[in-house]
Amino acid sequence: MTQIAEQQILDALKGVADPDRGRDIVSLGMVKGLQTQDGHVAFAIEVDPQRGAKLEPLRQQAEKAVHALPGVLSATVVLTAEKEATQAAPEPGSQAATHGAEAPLMPGARSIIAVASGKGGVGKSTTAVNLALGLAAAGHKVGILDADIYGPSMPRMMGITGEPSSTDGRSLNPMENYGVKCMSMGFLVEEETPIIWRGPMAQSALQQMMRDINWGELDVLVVDMPPGTGDVQLTMAQQVPLTGAVIVSTPQDIALADARKGLNMFRKVDVPVIGIVENMSYFACPHCGGRTEIFSHGGAREEAALLGVDFLGEIPLDVEIRETSDGGHPVVVSKPDSDNAKAFRMIADKVWDKIEKSLAEGQAQAPRIVVQ
Ligand code: ADP
Repeated sequence: MTQIAEQQILDALKGVADPDRGRDIVSLGMVKGLQTQDGHVAFAIEVDPQRGAKLEPLRQQAEKAVHALPGVLSATVVLTAEKEATQAAPEPGSQAATHGAEAPLMPGARSIIAVASGKGGVGKSTTAVNLALGLAAAGHKVGILDADIYGPSMPRMMGITGEPSSTDGRSLNPMENYGVKCMSMGFLVEEETPIIWRGPMAQSALQQMMRDINWGELDVLVVDMPPGTGDVQLTMAQQVPLTGAVIVSTPQDIALADARKGLNMFRKVDVPVIGIVENMSYFACPHCGGRTEIFSHGGAREEAALLGVDFLGEIPLDVEIRETSDGGHPVVVSKPDSDNAKAFRMIADKVWDKIEKSLAEGQAQAPRIVVQ
């Protein structure tokens, strides 16, 4: 496939005019972060945050204009908020990064926790969803935000289809299932659309998601982070006023660098690490009920102690966990009496204890999200 020339895309976008400013979005310098890859195109249109919702037709028009070009397989366009020219980007870990000057967002969430992993495929999303359901089972008001914008899996795991509605035409109402509110990029982007946002675009998409969702009153918002510990994750960890982070690891990785990288990332931005969950801890055989310690089980507990963080519990590698979460009926709700569900609920209880402690310590500092 021939690479689509950026100029061709910009030429097409010159036919798209900002309705309020009367000129096209290219000459107004509103097109940012243009990326093309194998026929897939993604970019952002930078707009004044006040005008965000009103410009949805403009976004669609831009998407259509690019999609119509020969050789373009998909076009993904997001609206991103214009940064004020006078406001310098905050340094990582600075107060301004999490407690910036502007309007508080999500005032209804009493606490926000991140579920993170050093790399993909360790069961981070599976843990996040069962943890959220475990917290809900204990009577807390829970939301889950799928910030894994590269591979959103919450719609499938939570068994939710359809699109979020909007009451006021500006903000979105989260979807809900099993008593847990849920928001995911997966509701907004077609499943087959490869999301090739650059880091900054991913962040602005997430910021937008957090800003414009009517979560209502929540005791805890669980954020399923994108896997890894790169710049995108670091910035997210900074931008979301996290109460704490839960690190998910498999036993063989925990002794390796990955989980440690995750820990260090949160420490760098002063987010307390609530603890480590060891997933796929041992193999639970569905035939004989036996337990096989494939990855020399137990390392996580020792390693957690060495690293000075709490060990929150272990979850076996069990086909029941895969089938239930991949099928949209996570084990905590579909088999609440199973050992697996109990293991997740125990982890949820430990996490809640820590959230409560931290809320009691920092009573005055209700978490806030700020627009930068
Ligand atoms: P991540 O979010 O870390 O990329 P996922 O939660 O999407 O990982 O899990 C990857 C795959 O592994 C999924 O198919 C999931 O069902 C499966 N899986 C996760 N944890 C377990 C487990 N404890 N036992 C069996 N399968 C699991």
